[in-house]
Amino acid sequence: ARDSLMQSEKLNVMSDLTASVAHEIRNPLTVTNGFLQLLNKSKNITEEEKKYVEFSLIELKRAEGIVSDFLAFSKPQSENMIYSNLKDEIEYVKNIITPFANMYQVHIQCKFQNSLNIYYDKNQIKQCFINLYKNAIEAMKETGGILSINVFEKKNEILIKIKDTGVGMTSEEVLQLRRPYYSTKTEGTGLGMLMIYSSINKINGKIQVESEKGKGTTFTITIPVQD
Ligand code: ADP
Ligand code: MG
Repeated sequence: ARDSLMQSEKLNVMSDLTASVAHEIRNPLTVTNGFLQLLNKSKNITEEEKKYVEFSLIELKRAEGIVSDFLAFSKPQSENMIYSNLKDEIEYVKNIITPFANMYQVHIQCKFQNSLNIYYDKNQIKQCFINLYKNAIEAMKETGGILSINVFEKKNEILIKIKDTGVGMTSEEVLQLRRPYYSTKTEGTGLGMLMIYSSINKINGKIQVESEKGKGTTFTITIPVQD
């Protein structure tokens, strides 16, 4: 219980930070990255100094990962609940993730109804989809595969099914998904899932995970439709 309290406090702090930090953090990251790359090419630094520079570049990359898992779509006014058609967000995010999918021979199949009106936070839901798609594609990195997205309304609920044919997870690994900073990737942040759970929780949604090691994973997100 204490663990979950700490976790929800962490979530509150996170969403407060999101609003103020998002845009401010990007430029200095890019500038620092550029200068470190230059320094790395210098012939006047020692091997040891080169190691420091390389370590800094890795850490910078980690910071950039956090920005893209958390802050990609955040605006200074982060709370932005609207009643709108989820279809627009699904199409938008599918378009921006497609080049990333192509890089890894992942084919995207997308099916959705025309009218999917609910209350949601535009930026948060886009971030949420991005993180889910990114994880799915990363799970198929070595093999390529199919990312199927299926969104439909059923009995006053909107169901979002995101299925990949990637590496899959054991049931123990599925349990770890809620843990902040849990990551099995060398350059992972372990914050993508945290963001997904917190934003779906905010709109009273549920997340269900079915996965089989070596076969793939399906995330099913259920969001209630209010009248
Ligand atoms: P990150 O992607 O930075 O590692 P996330 O919070 O997005 O952090 O995901 C946490 C972990 O959950 C991943 O490292 C991975 O092990 C696992 N995971 C999430 N989605 C999938 C998926 N679709 N298939 C397999 N593993 C997944
Ligand atoms: Mg991720």
